Amino acid sequence: MIVAKFGGTSVADAAAIHRLVGIIAARRDERPVVVVSALAKITDQLIALEDAEGPADFEAAVARIVERHRALAHDLDLPPAAIERIREDADSLGQWVRARGTGPWTSAERDRVIAHGELWSSRVVAAALDHGGVPAAWVDARHVIITEPDFGQAAPRLPNIRNRAARVIGPIIERNIVPVTQGFIGATQDGQTTTLGRGGSDYTASLLGAALGAERVEIWTDVDGLLTADPRIVPDARLLPEASYDEAAELAAFGARVLHPATQLPLIEAGIPCWVRNSFAPERPGTRIVAGARPAPLGDSPVRAIAWKKGITVVNVRAPRRLGAVEFLQQLFAVFARHGVAVDVLASSEVNVSVTVDEPARIPALVTDLEALGTVTLFERRAIVAVVGLDLRGTRGFSARLFGAVRDVNIEVISQGASEINVTFVVEEGDGIRAVRALHQEFFGTG
Ligand code: ADP
Ligand code: ASP
Ligand code: MG
Repeated sequence: MIVAKFGGTSVADAAAIHRLVGIIAARRDERPVVVVSALAKITDQLIALEDAEGPADFEAAVARIVERHRALAHDLDLPPAAIERIREDADSLGQWVRARGTGPWTSAERDRVIAHGELWSSRVVAAALDHGGVPAAWVDARHVIITEPDFGQAAPRLPNIRNRAARVIGPIIERNIVPVTQGFIGATQDGQTTTLGRGGSDYTASLLGAALGAERVEIWTDVDGLLTADPRIVPDARLLPEASYDEAAELAAFGARVLHPATQLPLIEAGIPCWVRNSFAPERPGTRIVAGARPAPLGDSPVRAIAWKKGITVVNVRAPRRLGAVEFLQQLFAVFARHGVAVDVLASSEVNVSVTVDEPARIPALVTDLEALGTVTLFERRAIVAVVGLDLRGTRGFSARLFGAVRDVNIEVISQGASEINVTFVVEEGDGIRAVRALHQEFFGTG
């Protein structure tokens, strides 16, 4: 069997869903499991409901979201039953908001509300497959994707998922029916809705792929595959026909939105290949991400791709001299661990440590604890630029070429050599795009 995940733009309108049906119909023999995201932009609209002026405003906004699904079902010529459940869910949301009022949500409430994007898109997609002659069954991902109760960024529990997938999804596949389920959402063991973090539908696909022992996972999106840079920034970015798990993970971690950063994790152990494909052009080959890929250089460039991530804060901590360097680092990382804050880029001298953090909400509490260790200075609105390549550490003259290409940009923190496949540096947010283009120009001849 295979898992095929369709992102928001790949289910956004009737034309997109017709293409989806075509792609799945062509794979019937391979026993596909379909995972879908919310229709494009719907998750943002659901998140914005938290700021509704009052219950009437909330319900009007929900009605607009329902209308988009209704119109889509209509364009697809689906029977009215296709959106009955969507209307019922919307009514429940209305009752909930009238009982509690609007205003700040708990993280558990937020997950419960925003899950509706996927719950509803999957209803339409399941009905469209059925209608298109591909027998399909809607599956509630909350019965399968069991997670810890860490709402908003929930950690999956693979053993439970494996069990549930076999029990809930296995029999449907056996009957030669295509299970259609939601990306992004899951539930705690006691049934509370959770989400896996923005862009998490990719992660759902790989979790299911691993749990069910899929032959491959296909991530259907709106670009040709993994490219040498985000094509929104570098329109001539080139396709990587093949990539290693490490490369894909590095690019995702440093802002290449095309894959959720955790996507590769469940696939590595089982050695399941993952493809990134263009749902707007299903005939194109896409990128194949496999274990032990020996990625070939593109032309004479040691660089394979460039990514960037904005919204970064650099946290600099200056230690008092009395603390030994080892002790200082130990205490510093204990603080980060206690706050559960991940660090991407790190640079240190004996008394100064600079690290990058991309979770703004957690910074105030973190800083309070770090101040017990030394003087803390924050540099906000920064971006990380990551260059991913082949043996960058061992390529003579590479640094000179890289930093020569961005000589007009002020570079604040550099992390090089920790891994042979990437070099990362920090710039002001406003310089990020310019840096990516300059690097692409240098290493691929177009920017
Ligand atoms: P989906 O809704 O299908 O999950 P996303 O918007 O999450 O799609 O991810 C696809 C987008 O990722 C592309 O439209 C592209 O702008 C962006 N992207 C960023 N970096 C890269 C890259 N290196 N290769 C391909 N796409 C990239
Ligand atoms: N719909 C969710 C989001 O917008 C998950 C996803 O698209 O992968 O973040
Ligand atoms: Mg995505």
